[in-house]
Amino acid sequence: TMSKQTLGFQTEVKQLLQLMIHSLYSNKEIFLRELISNASDACDKLKFEALNNDALYEGDGSLKIEIGFDKDARTITIRDNGIGMSRDEVVANIGTIARSGTKEFFGKLSGDAQKDANLIGQFGVGFYSAFIVADRVTLTTRRAGESAATRWESEGAGEFTLEEVTKEGRGTEIVLHLKEDENEFLDDWRLKSVIRKYSDHITLPVMMKKGNSYGENGEIIVSDEVETVNKANALWTRAKSDISEDDYKQFYKHVSHDWEEPLAWTHAKVEGRQEYTELLYIPKRAPFDLYDRERRHGVKLFVRRVFIMEDAEKLLPQYLRFVRGVIDSNDLPLNVSREILQHSKDIDTIKAGCVKKVLGVLEDIAENRADDYTAFWQEFGKVMKEGVGEDHGNKERIAALCRFASTHTDDEDQIVSLKDYIGRMKEGQDKIYYVTAETHAGAKNSPHLEIFRKKGIEVLLLSDRVDEWFVSSLTEFDGKTLQSVAKGGLDLGSLEDEAEKKEQEAKAETLKDLIEAVKTSLGDRVKEVRVTHRLTDSPACLVADEHAMSGHLERILKSAGQ
Ligand code: ADP
Ligand code: MG
Repeated sequence: TMSKQTLGFQTEVKQLLQLMIHSLYSNKEIFLRELISNASDACDKLKFEALNNDALYEGDGSLKIEIGFDKDARTITIRDNGIGMSRDEVVANIGTIARSGTKEFFGKLSGDAQKDANLIGQFGVGFYSAFIVADRVTLTTRRAGESAATRWESEGAGEFTLEEVTKEGRGTEIVLHLKEDENEFLDDWRLKSVIRKYSDHITLPVMMKKGNSYGENGEIIVSDEVETVNKANALWTRAKSDISEDDYKQFYKHVSHDWEEPLAWTHAKVEGRQEYTELLYIPKRAPFDLYDRERRHGVKLFVRRVFIMEDAEKLLPQYLRFVRGVIDSNDLPLNVSREILQHSKDIDTIKAGCVKKVLGVLEDIAENRADDYTAFWQEFGKVMKEGVGEDHGNKERIAALCRFASTHTDDEDQIVSLKDYIGRMKEGQDKIYYVTAETHAGAKNSPHLEIFRKKGIEVLLLSDRVDEWFVSSLTEFDGKTLQSVAKGGLDLGSLEDEAEKKEQEAKAETLKDLIEAVKTSLGDRVKEVRVTHRLTDSPACLVADEHAMSGHLERILKSAGQ
């Protein structure tokens, strides 16, 4: 066999480890949740791979997670008979981080332990949480179907060792050598209550030895008999009435890798053309990789309780990529692949049903939990706006969920809905006016707004990158046209009074020579020069043709090299 080899952690891993140990100290029991969660994922993966290769079970198909402790050796052991890892997988998965977003992650840290703990949770450094309570971790693993096993060991300081060993059963065994002052975990009752608290919904049995008598000092003496500590059934298959609010929240933390509580969820068993159960959550906070093409997490697809894949793209549209949870189908074939999913009418049906549920939840928050909705919009508004262009069928519903800044408050906060806007429209106003710019200040100070401010007509101030795409996809709402204040001849319709029109015509007459002179001087650079009354303070402004690109979109395209 190969001799022992010492390797170094990536710098980021070292930093993260230090940080985690400090900021999670007050919440240290979660190490167990993280390790059980990994063991459960490993069993799911085995089940999935074994669909096409039964031999991977090696004659042992009863998947389980075992937890044990040794008071004298001061160790806790977490063992699973899941997929295990090859040597290369060990190095790739728990020696490096190399995840996109690491730098941004460090940038976001505040130094406040509670806040940072949430960030760390989102970042998903689950395995390393073992070092919150352990000063040495030994992981021995054998991948299903392979003969060589690997032992990984580290003190969490900057290095780890790798060794080839033999291991009878497949899967992973992790031994935590506890730090001096972590004796509280060498306790049957304590461990079991942590398991019940965090891992009740894990679909596999989490087994521990049964404690059935008391010692001299009142301590529980464990027997050799084992018992299942958690409920071990898939939470989403249970009746809603049997699931507590706290169950839902714990399950969210498990499926989302988020440590914060969810903002809301929807749980339903759907019957009809496709039979499936959905349990979908809206997170409170946007994940780091919301704009990253190689996002790691999404919605989990199960087929009859078997985990198939985690993929946001196929199961929900892009603009709902922040949604987490599970969809469990009764009708899809077990051997469904990503390719099949892409062209599956059945998936389309499920997808459409789930989108409706999620939009329903959002509408409910918007209506009944105003502050929560504002917070939601701050985190996910830019992404939701993509939906107007992406999801034609639900355009009107998505548009109704959108919030904007407007001249009504002149504030940067996006809190105005199109419905609010329409409710404030002036007598005779039949359009929804907006201005787009690169920044809020740019929009707010646009000379195009002068006439609107004078007349007290509200204008939406759009300065998110996605807004150009938004207004090109949504040309009307509730029968009212969306109109850029910077485009075309400004026709305020019946909002304009006759006297003003007359005045304008008269002015055009007197300014004829000046206009000609400006036209000659600008030559080909402009299409037309005309007198306007849309300005009250500024002497002149640029206006795009009614059907031309807006100046702002033109600048975006230019900066993208088009
Ligand atoms: P995450 O679970 O979010 O991927 P972790 O730090 O918890 O992050 O785990 C990192 C990776 O290590 C996992 O994605 C998995 O590939 C591997 N891993 C961890 N624990 C196990 C285990 N018990 N069996 C197999 N692979 C594991
Ligand atoms: Mg994990």
